[in-house]
Amino acid sequence: MVSFSVKYEELSPAEWFRRNKELAGLTNPTRALYQTIREFVENSLDATESYGILPSVKVRVAYHDKSRGWLSVYVEDNGIGIPDQEIPNVFGKVFYSSKYRVRQHRGVFGLGAKMVILYAQSTTNKPVIVRSAPLGSDKIFEYVLMIDTLKNKPVILSRKEYENRYRWHGTAVKVVIEGEWGRARRRIEEYLRRTYMVAPYAEIYFEGPDLVLYFPRATTKLPPPPKEGYPHPKSVDVELIKHLILQNPNITLREFLMEYFDGVGRQTAEMFLKWAKLDGSKRVGDLTEDEITYLTTKMREFDGWRRPRADWLSPVGEDILVEGVKKVLEPEFVAAITRKPSSYGGHPFIVEAAIAWGGKIPPSDRPIVYRFANKVPLLYDEGSDVIKKVVDEIDWSVYKVKFPAPLAVVVHVCSTKIPYVSAGKEAIADVIEIEEEIRLAVREVARRLRQYLTKKEKEEEVYIRYATFNMYATEVASALAFITGKSVDEIKKKLSELIIKKVGPELASRLEKETAKIAIKETTRR
Ligand code: ADP
Ligand code: MG
Repeated sequence: MVSFSVKYEELSPAEWFRRNKELAGLTNPTRALYQTIREFVENSLDATESYGILPSVKVRVAYHDKSRGWLSVYVEDNGIGIPDQEIPNVFGKVFYSSKYRVRQHRGVFGLGAKMVILYAQSTTNKPVIVRSAPLGSDKIFEYVLMIDTLKNKPVILSRKEYENRYRWHGTAVKVVIEGEWGRARRRIEEYLRRTYMVAPYAEIYFEGPDLVLYFPRATTKLPPPPKEGYPHPKSVDVELIKHLILQNPNITLREFLMEYFDGVGRQTAEMFLKWAKLDGSKRVGDLTEDEITYLTTKMREFDGWRRPRADWLSPVGEDILVEGVKKVLEPEFVAAITRKPSSYGGHPFIVEAAIAWGGKIPPSDRPIVYRFANKVPLLYDEGSDVIKKVVDEIDWSVYKVKFPAPLAVVVHVCSTKIPYVSAGKEAIADVIEIEEEIRLAVREVARRLRQYLTKKEKEEEVYIRYATFNMYATEVASALAFITGKSVDEIKKKLSELIIKKVGPELASRLEKETAKIAIKETTRR
């Protein structure tokens, strides 16, 4: 018999992700550069606006060693900063995060910064440099770090402290990676433009090898920061229940339900206990494994829970969305809607949509779709995204749109849990409840576009009639003057009063201006 020697071993999360970088979008030097900027900018925006700070973010990309295609990426923000002792872990340990909470964030996996640092390590072998000062700190801390992938632990190469004379607060991060600036350039520009579209209250400065961009703060209105919430009973699983029981094993099952879950008052708890035939006075620490499994199943099945609350969400809001779309797309018409909260599998979510038409939007054969999840623009994997699917399925002729048309559709889904298709966070999966809300939102703004286009069409008709009439006005007036014996000017005045009455003063004054413009053009041409 042939004998095999089989070797069993453990792989740390850091090592696993180092080997599977593609899953987080680090597939090639172009995308890696884009992803690096994205992860750091998202962290910066989370660290500011989620805490009520108007974001100021600076990004700098420069050649570190051009012949080898090495770039340095530096991102700085004015956020809440990171406590001294947490800096090594948040940047040096895969799955270490302050965002494993029921609350809307851009970050979700506790992975982004570490993936970038692992990528830097495996391409240039350079450490990450982090400088940070928490709010109110009289010191600035600086760390030079690498990740020990085998142990999934930070390696601290150096730590320094500086006096924080100007009470700066925020975080600055710098890495050196293998990247492709030339090809990533357009993506990065587009990413920043779109980020600004849903966050026009941010100030973003970007400097690259041959590109400088500045997005000034367009409004000081900030969406209210999301509150931190509890899981909804419909979204639980066995591990979560066990985890929560361990935190406080001495309370009764009734208290447990009321204290640790979203939307469970005494009455709802009693209803559930009766329905599931469970004893509410039992100490949760005494529940057996089987009872825990049973409890979990029943919690997920029960239909009497209140709907998950949306306080943990932070939609952009109709006004800010309109503002952002105007700034970035400069359209002729824009309308936006924030739908009421809804939920899937116990996770609350809100869909927002905006529609923009004309102006600087180039005409194209399909609507240009701008996709966002928790305020993060999604640029890749459009084909597997539910937003794109819904927009494509809409019959736009119903809304008076004839292609090619200058039409842009913006959809933002925010949730405590976005069902991403992959860890690269580039596409939203096809969840039925979300799909339906997207459809309703897009239809609603599309109806407003139709109203606008209809109004415009009518105005166009009136305008043509008015212009035609104007062409003959002088002749008609003099003919009438001849018949009635009144002065031409008087009759002309009467005629224009009649027109104003007919088309309304607002349109009349616009028509007046336009005719004047045409007249001026005519005279200058002659
Ligand atoms: P995630 O963003 O998914 O939590 P990251 O690896 O990107 O994962 O970041 C880990 C943690 O580091 C964050 O949860 C946050 O607590 C902290 N962090 C990262 N960047 C910043 C920053 N610019 N300001 C404040 N905290 C930050
Ligand atoms: Mg992150």
